[in-house]
Amino acid sequence: MGITVDNVSKQFGSFKAVEHVSVEIKSGSLVALLGPSGSGKSTLLRLIAGLEKPDSGRILLTGKDATNASVQDRQVGFVFQHYALFKHLTIRQNIGFGLEIAKWKKPRISDRVNELIDLVQLQGMGDRYPSQLSGGQRQRVALARALAIEPGVLLLDEPFGALDAKVRKDLRSWLRHLHDKVNVTTVFVTHDQEEAMEVSDELVVMNHGKVEQIGSPAEIYDHPATPFVMSFIGPVN
Ligand code: ADP
Ligand code: MG
Repeated sequence: MGITVDNVSKQFGSFKAVEHVSVEIKSGSLVALLGPSGSGKSTLLRLIAGLEKPDSGRILLTGKDATNASVQDRQVGFVFQHYALFKHLTIRQNIGFGLEIAKWKKPRISDRVNELIDLVQLQGMGDRYPSQLSGGQRQRVALARALAIEPGVLLLDEPFGALDAKVRKDLRSWLRHLHDKVNVTTVFVTHDQEEAMEVSDELVVMNHGKVEQIGSPAEIYDHPATPFVMSFIGPVN
């Protein structure tokens, strides 16, 4: 599902969190929203998800105006850093949770959960509880849960933020691999330049609620459009 963000602005009180942002996200691509803390990345992601309504501008999904559509109607899956698994439910129950809500029949849920456990490579762990998994494995369960309903868009807000450096690195290449397999349009928030460069097809660099530059990692690295991008992306001296 392609996403068009058309001149969207959002302010909280007098603070302009997102200001006149326009971004075109191609169907099936893996896009990173990159910027320092407070630059409006999460707000933009929440606007795409329908968790916030823009003050002005439009959000289009597959070319159709979805600015006023509900979260459910947008068919988005999301993983937030602090969007924890249910502790008292098994891995299988966690992954199937949204399908229960959507009133899928038991055997169909079971088949879909098996598929997802294979997809995130957690075979044999379905009957465990979240506390019996590592941090990286838990994030893979959260991804499986987000993918359960076959969303048109997958939105990830610093999903690996709380994990240690080694696990983050493993999950990066793993996310790339997963994306190539499922091919769902994925928008991924990070403040980590290296993570964004390594994982994404396209980068949207944000600062103070505005888009500074959009392009492939190579384009942005080789031709930073603004002094901000140059200092934020450039090689560390
Ligand atoms: P980022 O994800 O890039 O760190 P955010 O989109 O979370 O940035 O937030 C940008 C700024 O907008 C924050 O510094 C915060 O002050 C403000 N903000 C975000 N959400 C709200 C809210 N619900 N109410 C008030 N202010 C908010
Ligand atoms: Mg954020």
